[in-house]
Amino acid sequence: MSLHFDVALCVRATSKFSDCTKCIDACPESLSMVDNLPSFPLSTGVEAAACVGVCPTEAFAFSDFSTTEFFFTFLESKVRLISPKFNVPCLSVLSVEHLISLALASDEMITLDLSTYDSVSLLFEQISKRIEEANFILSSFSVKQLETNSIEKEQEPLDADDTHTSRRSFLGNASLKGVIKHKKTFDDAVNAEEMQHFEVSTSIIGKIKDKNLPDKRKILLTTLKHANIPNVFEVLPQEEVGFISQKFIDESCTNCQICYRICPTGALSSDGKFSLIHFDAMLCLKCHLCHDACEPNSIALQDGFEIKEFFEPKQRTLATFDIKRCHECGNNFTYTGGEQACPRCMVEEEEAMFLHNNAVYMKGNNATT
Ligand code: SF4
Ligand code: SF4
Ligand code: SF4
Repeated sequence: MSLHFDVALCVRATSKFSDCTKCIDACPESLSMVDNLPSFPLSTGVEAAACVGVCPTEAFAFSDFSTTEFFFTFLESKVRLISPKFNVPCLSVLSVEHLISLALASDEMITLDLSTYDSVSLLFEQISKRIEEANFILSSFSVKQLETNSIEKEQEPLDADDTHTSRRSFLGNASLKGVIKHKKTFDDAVNAEEMQHFEVSTSIIGKIKDKNLPDKRKILLTTLKHANIPNVFEVLPQEEVGFISQKFIDESCTNCQICYRICPTGALSSDGKFSLIHFDAMLCLKCHLCHDACEPNSIALQDGFEIKEFFEPKQRTLATFDIKRCHECGNNFTYTGGEQACPRCMVEEEEAMFLHNNAVYMKGNNATT
């Protein structure tokens, strides 16, 4: 069994409001939604690799292949070819963040071998889209990096001699010895058909509350620190950048606290008094959970993503609130004008008033009969 699913990392386990279906959309033949969580047959192996690369929170992983380990061993090796023929189970295990990081960290052009994929398949389409997105973002970095490090699709099957040479030098690297073994494990995936069933248990709930930054984002943050800073910072259309976002919050926000409490990474946060909402774009996974959970629809994506954020990240304050102490219960609340009482005390006051008026009315009625 190769595919591993960490329920606690799935945003659907974090909140019932999540509409995330990225993994299902990526592997509709292997994955389906059962009880609001992704599920897959025990036999699912490398054919579901696309869900590994597409999941924003890295909830899916292969037990026998680590993309983080691959990142470092690949860069240590002299090979600059990534191919399902010998060093990855499938190109789709690599996210856009991995592709950008690999291109930035490599001193030579990296070639991705697409020759083994059916060019009309969903998998081919998805891998091609990720490469396009990575290259599009890389194109907004400095020209030098583009010329030396941008990612190219392999259009034709590999030349036999080149493949042999590449494979030999790849195998010659002692640190990559395990990869062939891992590939075999993928190929040997068992054939059971029983669906895996996942649920949010009490132990999972404790883990959900932890804020986690996926390894792929840590890798990207590290490689960006060593990348050349572009001469000009472009602004890319937000729909062209699928793994990170910049946002704003409009005046309809009620400071219900949900978005910054459930944000899986802490990209959205507040202070001790809940008097503001901070946002760190570099921690945002564009998982859409905050948008899905915001009842008044107060959170929106900025039209453009500023490339400057990659090189000069800064925490932004998206909203500030007037926090006052309730003169009834003494708790802090978001003051929006009028009486200085928190919403709960206001409701209680209204209910008490209703009961009082009712009692007066009943008393009056009794007196006349
Ligand atoms: S893509 Fe990831 S976060 Fe989204 S539903 Fe699938 S496992 Fe959950
Ligand atoms: S942005 Fe939405 S979810 Fe966040 S605090 Fe405001 S109303 Fe609540
Ligand atoms: S701020 Fe980003 S990471 Fe946090 S919930 Fe919203 S989309 Fe997801």
